[in-house]
Amino acid sequence: MWSVAPQRGGASITVRTYGKSHRGLKRPNNEDAWLVRQLGQGGVLLAVADGVGGGPAGQEASQLALKILDDAVGMEVHDAARLASAVSLANRRIWESGQQNEQLTGMGTTLTSAAIVGSRVYVAHVGDSRAYHVLADHLVRLTVDHSVAGEMEAAGGLTPDEARVHPNRHMLTRALGPDSRVRIDVSEAEWEDGHRLLLCTDGLTTVLSDQDIFDIAQRDSGQSLVDTLIQRALDRGGPDNITVVVAEAKMGDEHGR
Ligand code: MG
Repeated sequence: MWSVAPQRGGASITVRTYGKSHRGLKRPNNEDAWLVRQLGQGGVLLAVADGVGGGPAGQEASQLALKILDDAVGMEVHDAARLASAVSLANRRIWESGQQNEQLTGMGTTLTSAAIVGSRVYVAHVGDSRAYHVLADHLVRLTVDHSVAGEMEAAGGLTPDEARVHPNRHMLTRALGPDSRVRIDVSEAEWEDGHRLLLCTDGLTTVLSDQDIFDIAQRDSGQSLVDTLIQRALDRGGPDNITVVVAEAKMGDEHGR
């Protein structure tokens, strides 16, 4: 999908998006889900969700999260608070469904959402999926993993490599669904020509380091970047569902002018 966003001074940036989800090699189902759609004024909404709960509940939770986000965000996003309120609503609806339906009790999901609007990226996030800002010479994590290991890493108690193999890396400290309220992290970044945004679930980041992801992003772009990242995770055993969504900014309109 592509979208053209007018910039200050009459120029425009084209945002192209790519995504894919893979069941991986060990799990019977794919409980991940992803969303990409256009916003007004050439903006783009992107999200990934990683359901937990077993049986039908995990899939239900991740798909419900994206549906409610999609409905609640509408066409205009002017700040991260708008995304956060949609994420908050998604939490409430998933929690309510869990209360009303015994089969879905205890279901939960991560939700990492981003809106690219003009020259800004807004992110609202809960759980251990991630958003990366991919720049020419490095990448920046725009999210903290809400897992036991991720919070220890964020506090400086573990290195990224230690966190990636920590026994409690999958134990979530925050998710949508378990409670009627949830604390949502928001962040922002600049969005310029050549910038890329990468959203992914932990099926990618438990087997690939930030350096691995950056190295692959140096060589690949577009759908090829998405496919290569997923293939590399499969090569390393594909222990979990893997989902990757990428947005790329390029100066000019869809014809490359
Ligand atoms: Mg996962």
